Amino acid sequence: MAHSTHELTTSSWNGQSGAAPQPGVDREAAERAAAEMLTALGADLDREGLAETPRRMVDAYVELLTPRPFRATTFANEDGYDELVLVRAIPFHSLCMHHVLPFYGVAHVGYLPGERIVGISKLARVVEMFARDLQVQERLTTQVADWLEEELRPKGVGVVIEAEHLCMSLRGVQKFGATTVTSALRGALREDPRTRQEFLALAGGGKGRD
Ligand SMILES: [Zn+2]
Repeated sequence: MAHSTHELTTSSWNGQSGAAPQPGVDREAAERAAAEMLTALGADLDREGLAETPRRMVDAYVELLTPRPFRATTFANEDGYDELVLVRAIPFHSLCMHHVLPFYGVAHVGYLPGERIVGISKLARVVEMFARDLQVQERLTTQVADWLEEELRPKGVGVVIEAEHLCMSLRGVQKFGATTVTSALRGALREDPRTRQEFLALAGGGKGRD
């Protein structure tokens, strides 16, 4: 089977995809800064339990901001499959770029195949690749849709993301449990009413995240 392979190494702290080379993680500087911030917030780092906290904070953020590398192999659509491919309720978590607090939920990712298809498990990895970044939900949604368009040149793309933002639940307006829904519809999923309806019904119906 004809196939092409794309090595994905998108990993960024600033979200400037395609910009200058990403700076590496300076763990020592991050730990110093974490210690300073905790101290400035009134924490006594000599207290038992806090001494190792700057290191643990940095470990946690590095993990949350580093996607696992993966290989997204695409294949020629030799059987000419021309119905919707949809993976529903892919769990994800990300960090909001405004408060550096988590937002998390599910993504529904679908496409109407053209000449190429991709292993369906890879759709979850694509979500993760873009989610492990300082993000806003709207951009995350768009980036997943853009990736599918660029890699597969499909007839249509649909991405719906439902997420709860802790910066909204725990502070500010404190609306616990409120979810934000964003969507990106492209090609036939945007323009053809029947396909659009089919996608939205499949993405929206049934068990989401309750
Ligand atoms: Zn926020």
